[in-house]
Amino acid sequence: MSDNAASQRAFNFSAGPAALPLSVLQEVQEEFLCLPGAGASLMELSHRGKHFVEIIEQAEATLRSLLGVSDEYAVLFLQGGAALQFSMIPANLLRGTEATAQYLLTGSWGKKAIAEARKEGNVDVVYDASETNFNCVPSASDYQVSDDAAYLYYCSNETIQGVQFPEEPTCPESVPLISDASSDFLCRPLPINKYGMIYACAQKNAGPAGVTVVVIRRDLLERGSESLPGYLQYRNHAGGGSMWNTPPTFAIYVLGKVARWLADDIGGLDAMEKQNQEKSRLVYDAIDASNGFYKGHAVPECRSLMNVTFTLPDDEMQTRFLEEAAENLLVNLKGHRSVGGIRASIYNAMSREGAETLANFMKDFAAKNG
Ligand SMILES: *Cc1c(COP(=O)(O)O)cnc(C)c1O
Repeated sequence: MSDNAASQRAFNFSAGPAALPLSVLQEVQEEFLCLPGAGASLMELSHRGKHFVEIIEQAEATLRSLLGVSDEYAVLFLQGGAALQFSMIPANLLRGTEATAQYLLTGSWGKKAIAEARKEGNVDVVYDASETNFNCVPSASDYQVSDDAAYLYYCSNETIQGVQFPEEPTCPESVPLISDASSDFLCRPLPINKYGMIYACAQKNAGPAGVTVVVIRRDLLERGSESLPGYLQYRNHAGGGSMWNTPPTFAIYVLGKVARWLADDIGGLDAMEKQNQEKSRLVYDAIDASNGFYKGHAVPECRSLMNVTFTLPDDEMQTRFLEEAAENLLVNLKGHRSVGGIRASIYNAMSREGAETLANFMKDFAAKNG
């Protein structure tokens, strides 16, 4: 990146596709015309050639090491976004069975996943936070999971509402726990062995749009019926090292670099979590110190480390907030239309300086207008 272009970069609070580490973008730029030793751009190379095979193997190895994923699990790189997983999960684990899949509903993405699952079989929503406009997540006593459920599904971080599970929901041993971790994947360490499957589209916290990471326990690969369309069959991807068809090579390449940045530059997921806690605390403190000028959407115990959602006293004030924020190089802060207000997405790649600049701007703005 020329210094000129780099200096034009604002603090980008986009919810997704979202900010990437500058050092990763710079590396990609350096290698863009010619991958070292390959004589061509990565985008011009076969997915079966040694250069890409090394890239995808390295990306998988780095993810496994960051998250502590054992051989008991397959790591897949798929296309179709998180949205395809809404269908692919019930197509493999529910279709053609008498079983019921149970869902915890804590926001907009869970709602979409449930609508897709209903097309495949019996679905039971065992917790539903819609009455409070999705401002919280349940505690263990708020729902019950049957021992014979096909799986228990939840969304660990609802990107639109800004609510996040502080830890995994309770789930019987016999029931595979499945998480849509699209917007908080790699934001903190995870007890991966609690999961049957966890998946994340990359474009929030892990890379560019175009690739979705699926970590799935190998016994679940066997459940998909022979009659499923080939792409929808998890074991086809697991068997061929995510090369059942051409994988999204460029997106996997960038995702691998982001994972490497997390491991080497940040120092792993414990260090990342600490930074994320500090960054989000700065912004939540600005909300809490505003005497009600800013109103947080999530109840405090369920606040997301990744997406901070809040409203201002009225629409006119909100418009002014967004305009003045942009003048201070704080961009893409407008909330999703279903919640309104402001959403500051402070993913892994958002610097502490960015969070601090936003928090200071919020304090000044509240002092002037409150
Ligand atoms: C963005 C998002 C999705 C949808 O991802 P696509 O890749 O657009 O299908 C699903 N779930 C969560 C939690 C998200 O943040």
